[in-house]
Amino acid sequence: MKKLPDRRGYFGDWGGAFVPETLMGPLGELESSYRRASRDRGFRTRLGLLLERYVGRPTPLFEARRLTARVGGARLWLKREDLCHTGAHKINNALGQALLAREMGKARVIAETGAGQHGVATATAAALLGLECTVYMGAEDIRRQRPNVVRMRLMGAEVVAVEGGSRTLKDAINEALRDWVTNVRTTHYVLGSVLGPHPYPMMVRDFQAVIGREAIAQFRRIGRGLPEAVVACVGGGSNAAGIFTAFVRYPRVRLVGVEAGGRGPGPGDHAARFAGGAAPGVLHGTRTMILQDADGQVEPTHSVSAGLDYPAVGPEHANWRDHGRVSYTTVDDGAALEAFHLLAETEGIIPALESAHAIAEAARLASGMGPGESVVVNLSGRGDKDLDEVVRLEEGSR
Ligand SMILES: *Cc1c(COP(=O)(O)O)cnc(C)c1O
Repeated sequence: MKKLPDRRGYFGDWGGAFVPETLMGPLGELESSYRRASRDRGFRTRLGLLLERYVGRPTPLFEARRLTARVGGARLWLKREDLCHTGAHKINNALGQALLAREMGKARVIAETGAGQHGVATATAAALLGLECTVYMGAEDIRRQRPNVVRMRLMGAEVVAVEGGSRTLKDAINEALRDWVTNVRTTHYVLGSVLGPHPYPMMVRDFQAVIGREAIAQFRRIGRGLPEAVVACVGGGSNAAGIFTAFVRYPRVRLVGVEAGGRGPGPGDHAARFAGGAAPGVLHGTRTMILQDADGQVEPTHSVSAGLDYPAVGPEHANWRDHGRVSYTTVDDGAALEAFHLLAETEGIIPALESAHAIAEAARLASGMGPGESVVVNLSGRGDKDLDEVVRLEEGSR
């Protein structure tokens, strides 16, 4: 496959930039600034040093031997994004974009957040680089995610409650876009996944691609060539794109994306865009696969993990699926919770519920493979943020 997106921001039939006229200029400016920065040795060095000394990169590639023994079959390896500062891969992108904002002479950044993870990553990067920061968050999410609201405020960010619509992520994105239109001269919008209008899906992927570059080099260094399979969970799709991008050019490496199967296949019960009957449409500035009803109304979604609970998927994933380069599957709430416990008990690592979806699928895959084979799982984040939710669910079901 040739290098995508094309000049208009398309990955095959997917992507583009569907925004009000007033944002076309700023998006063009962002693209040219980003392209200039990504070629600039000074920018790359500054970002590289921050990733090393602040985020803690490279993150380890760890062989999960006891998990492998429990599952039986292929060897399981964990790419430890849970060890990044702030506990997940999201900081890789937030820091890249915040640094770019500073290079562009913008004194302020804004962000949307659902569960608060991307808001925390952006507030963190803004504090580090001395940028003003406003985070839009649905009022319902603010209630559900108190600790992350406290974290953002501690780091000097203003958290704005969005009262419109369903008072969740979708509405927060709309509000952030409105702010951006109004304040574009002074403000950069730090978008949190491989979503939104061009150049965001490309730029966020590139900032996350460090995950796969490291993983491939680490796997080679231990003398094992290439793994047979790589597995990652897919919300918007940034941690998956981050690890897949380095492997896409090797057709013998099987790539598997895992969507949230939620409570089951009924409408509103899951966030499985590919497996769950999504259709092409435009949401938040990009053409992609969206869970919607027959009238084109965006459907509500559900997942035990807030980070996978979104009705659309990054446009590059839709293209990888068209070409059969990545296969997409689902893991439901129950199987994700089981994998959450399994990893904690076998390896002493408590995964984020999002990442537990990938662990469940990797275990299923490995059990059907041979002991000479290897599966790499992107462990996108740690589970501290999910402890209350897990306790609540498990006490409720007793
Ligand atoms: C936000 C989040 C995700 C989902 O986002 P992607 O863009 O699909 O990576 C997955 N894992 C963790 C730990 C997250 O915080």
